Formats: sequence, C-alpha cells, structure tokens
Amino acid sequence: MQKLLMIINNLHQNFYNKIFRGFFYDRCILCQKSTDNNMYICYNCFKQLKSIAKLRSIKNIYYIWDYETIFSKLLKNYKLNRIKNLENIIVKLIKHDFFEILNKKNIEIIIPVPINNNRIRERGFNQTEEILKKLNIKYLKAKRIKATKKMSRILNKKEREKNIKNAFKIEGDLENKIILIFDDVITTGTTVNELIKTINKKYMIKEVYIFTLSLTKTAKKILNDGRD
Ligand SMILES: [Zn+2]
Repeated sequence: MQKLLMIINNLHQNFYNKIFRGFFYDRCILCQKSTDNNMYICYNCFKQLKSIAKLRSIKNIYYIWDYETIFSKLLKNYKLNRIKNLENIIVKLIKHDFFEILNKKNIEIIIPVPINNNRIRERGFNQTEEILKKLNIKYLKAKRIKATKKMSRILNKKEREKNIKNAFKIEGDLENKIILIFDDVITTGTTVNELIKTINKKYMIKEVYIFTLSLTKTAKKILNDGRD
C-alpha cells in the first residue's frame, strides 16, 4: 500500500513538473516562444514592454502603457494567474515614474480603485493593492459596497454610470488633502469618476490625480473630446 502511494505520488509529481513547468516556465507567457529562463517572459517581450513604457498624461490622468499593446496580455495573465514575477516586472517598469509623480504633485493619500468583491473572491487578491504593497506604499482602502456588473461589458455610457453609481464607500482623513487614485487600466473612466464623486460628496479635497498603468483607446477618446 505504502509503495503504491509512493508510485502514485511520483507519477503525480512527474505530471505536475512536466505540465506546469512546461507551460509556465519554459515558455514565454506572452509570445509562447520557449525561453531559457524561468522568468515567465522572454527577453524580447521584456524589452518590448520596457520600450513602450512611457509616462504620459491627459488632463489629471498619468499613465504608462497604451492598453492595446503587449501590456494587456501581461495584465490579463497577472490578474488570472497572479504570477509574482509579472508583478515584479510591472513594479520595476513603473517605479521611477510613479515616485516622480508622488513627489512632483506632493501626493498625500493614495487610494487604489477597489475591485468587485466577487472578483476578489475569484482571484483572492486585488492587483492594484499588490502593486502598491510591492512599491512599499501606504494606501487608503475604499470599499466596494454594491455588486456591479463587469463594466467592460456595458457599452452604453448611461448604463455604465447607473451600474457603478453609489458603489463605493470611503472613510479616512481626506479633508484638504492631495489625493492620487491608482488603477491598472482605465477603460472608459466611469469607475474612477464615480470614486472621485464619492470622495467629493464627503470631503473638501485639495487636488486629485489619477495614476493608471494603462489607458484604452476609448478612454483616450473620451478624455480628449469630452464625450462618449
Ligand atoms: Zn516572449
């Protein structure tokens, strides 16, 4: 019996190593080419991510990547699989710009956009908080108090606003403070707007900025011509 268990265990280990290592270690998760490192992404993809990482801004929104690039693949993989190394790559590539904004704008409080509770249950983590932790940043947590549908699935602006309305709750000393909202991707801006509305209803804040890892084309269009 003991022996049989050992055999089963070995088979299981072999299977695990072959399948999992084969999938996640030997191949770049972004381009699927085989790599000789165990960093999950190959050097070429890293170089590409790095070359397109540029701090830019539209209005009070700072962002690093255009979403419709290799970055969206990286972000999706990170959210789905919580591969720590992808978090390290993101942190490494944004660190300098992120701290530059914090200093330049004298940011006093950082608030990550909270994700849907269902999604935390599915994933077990909120990606924006994890990135802030890695950056050694103290942040204030806003709460998500309403179950909402996935925003990216709602195309109509009014419906999106309705879906996210009164979804947040915030507590803390925000009076007269300079605030930075932190997000991973701004798809249309409706969610982040609602969070700012919630803050403004309760507090007189001094200034508010947004730092997002990426911005979609749609969001850029809305921000540039002020309509949907
Ligand atoms: Zn690659």
